[in-house]
Amino acid sequence: MAYDDQNIFAKILRGEIPCEKVHETDHTLAFNDIARARPVHVLVIPKGAYVSSDDFSAKASDAEIADFWRTVGDVARMKGVADSGYRLIANTGADGHQEVPHFHMHVLGGATAGPMLKKRDG
Ligand code: AMP
Repeated sequence: MAYDDQNIFAKILRGEIPCEKVHETDHTLAFNDIARARPVHVLVIPKGAYVSSDDFSAKASDAEIADFWRTVGDVARMKGVADSGYRLIANTGADGHQEVPHFHMHVLGGATAGPMLKKRDG
């Protein structure tokens, strides 16, 4: 899938629309999700143009990948959920129900995430 530079996170990265910034590094931006699903709900995104997790891991530099994962951990500590626990979710593609086609990790915490997805036939 080709990267669509009109997606909402690309606009946030270009400063065309605002976000509630939580943390920023050379390669990564973290901001609050606009429709919070838990008391802590932060989106961590690479600044580069990557559609999905697999696109990111295939094309990003080692520095970008290391920076991304360090930022995910930093955000969990900064938001005070590293000890209480949190859930990381990266919805991917149609079956993963990804709405914004720029790779992002949801960091959800501050209340129980509930059980994993239920088993389903088919
Ligand atoms: P996903 O379904 O994994 O692609 O999730 C996209 C997420 O982006 C959803 O949780 C939305 O609430 C969130 N979102 C959409 N627009 C914005 C925005 N302008 N600022 C912050 N979060 C947003």
